Amino acid sequence: MSLRSDAYIDGQWRGGGKRFAVLNPATQEQIAEVPDLGAAEAEEAIAAAHKAFLAWAAKSAKERASVMRAWYDLMMADIDRLAALISREGGKPVAEAKGEAAYGASFVEWFGEEAKRAYGRTIPTTTATRRYVTIKQPIGVCAAITPWNFPMAMITRKAAPAIAAGNTIVLKPPSQTPLTALALAELGERAGLPAGVFNVVTTHDHTSEIGRVFCESPLVRKFSFTGSTEVGKKLGAVCVGSTVKRVSLELGGNAPLIVFADADLDLAVKGTIASKFRNAGQTCVCANRILVEDAIYDAFSKKLADAVAKLKVGPGDEAGVEIGPLIDGKAIEKVERMVAEALASGAVALTGGKTHAAGAQFYTPTVLTNVTREMRVNREEIFGPVAPLIRFKSENEAVSIANDTPFGLASYFFTRDVNRAWRVAERIESGMVSINDGIFSNEVIPFGGWKESGLGREGGVEGLEEYLETKFVNFGGFV
Ligand code: NAP
Repeated sequence: MSLRSDAYIDGQWRGGGKRFAVLNPATQEQIAEVPDLGAAEAEEAIAAAHKAFLAWAAKSAKERASVMRAWYDLMMADIDRLAALISREGGKPVAEAKGEAAYGASFVEWFGEEAKRAYGRTIPTTTATRRYVTIKQPIGVCAAITPWNFPMAMITRKAAPAIAAGNTIVLKPPSQTPLTALALAELGERAGLPAGVFNVVTTHDHTSEIGRVFCESPLVRKFSFTGSTEVGKKLGAVCVGSTVKRVSLELGGNAPLIVFADADLDLAVKGTIASKFRNAGQTCVCANRILVEDAIYDAFSKKLADAVAKLKVGPGDEAGVEIGPLIDGKAIEKVERMVAEALASGAVALTGGKTHAAGAQFYTPTVLTNVTREMRVNREEIFGPVAPLIRFKSENEAVSIANDTPFGLASYFFTRDVNRAWRVAERIESGMVSINDGIFSNEVIPFGGWKESGLGREGGVEGLEEYLETKFVNFGGFV
């Protein structure tokens, strides 16, 4: 795998014209320059995907699966280089980036296999003269927009089910991390994906223009977006208002992580660190608010702060680093502002609470106590390595705080009481609940949110459904 820096449309590498710089967030050094494409190239990519659709859809699921398997094998063979690239343009530590590369590749393996099981149904008839069946068919051209925090996995979670099901796809990768997307295109080409099946349109200055083309084009039958709730709402509305296309939205979160007094505290500390500090706190399922029962609040805070103070901060390619840089200057400013506001309103930093000497975009892993429900660190996604601890006194209060948000993506809680485990899991308003574990994502589970965290699911059997139409067929006239 070489470093690809041209866009990929209709099986051709497309350079030329204006380009924009992709920077390493640890050092702000330029890694490459990538084409800054616009509406015309987006239209061209959609036309190529449209042209490629019928032939790709006509292949058997088994034929498509063998190309997916080759794509997956190439990803795994090149996992170290993919990890280095994800780390270089996105900032996460190389070991974590390798985890993302394996996670990203797993969708290609899973959906290649799963598409062989895109079963329809036979429905018992209501009339002797008829027989009813449903069949599953690909939707057509799909368009996707993805964020920078998982430069690979957010793409394969959409592209793999789309392509395995017989659709073709046009992707606009994030402007901060387009190089991993282009590496995937190169591996796909080598695996035997026909021209037009997977297209990557890079941009910097024309993001909203390309978004509009994706959402309004009558050739695009399905739009899938991962990113902020604000942008997702706008684009979803255009999709429905213009051409009533199918829409999937994976949006922001504000995950509660509840530590009950009966929890194993060491396990809870480990789980909190795994969930909160993954990718320096920049994941949609990161614990955003840590709710801790009164009786263990002080003991838990101390244990957590001691462990957090030991986390190693630095550039992603340095050995042993656990916390990399934040993605850009705006992200650092936002975290600084939110922490300053919390401290001014009475919160206390047990550890951290400031930027880090490793560089301009590094923030010291932080634990805040005395946090209240009114503070912005409780109400908004922090997207940084800051753990705000809120005190609660009863299970009812914990559930009520947890649900007091317009978001509903992931939730976590720690308890040793099996009755409480069921009770709380059922009462929490979120698409995913993880009990006694800070990490849960993989290719076989349905990932997605309730409320303003999104529409639809990625991964699992549900993730394939998002890229299939159900057609009902009536065989009438039996005598
Ligand atoms: P963002 O600003 O919404 O950007 C995400 C993607 O949308 C990028 O490719 C961006 O392009 C594009 N975009 C931005 N404005 C657009 C517009 N007007 N029209 C078309 N495209 C547009 O989100 P972010 O801040 O990068 O990502 C973090 C957010 O994503 C967080 O809220 C996080 O929770 C959420 N997220 C959710 C999931 C999930 O599965 N639910 C997973 C990961 C992240 P440019 O890069 O060119 O600006």
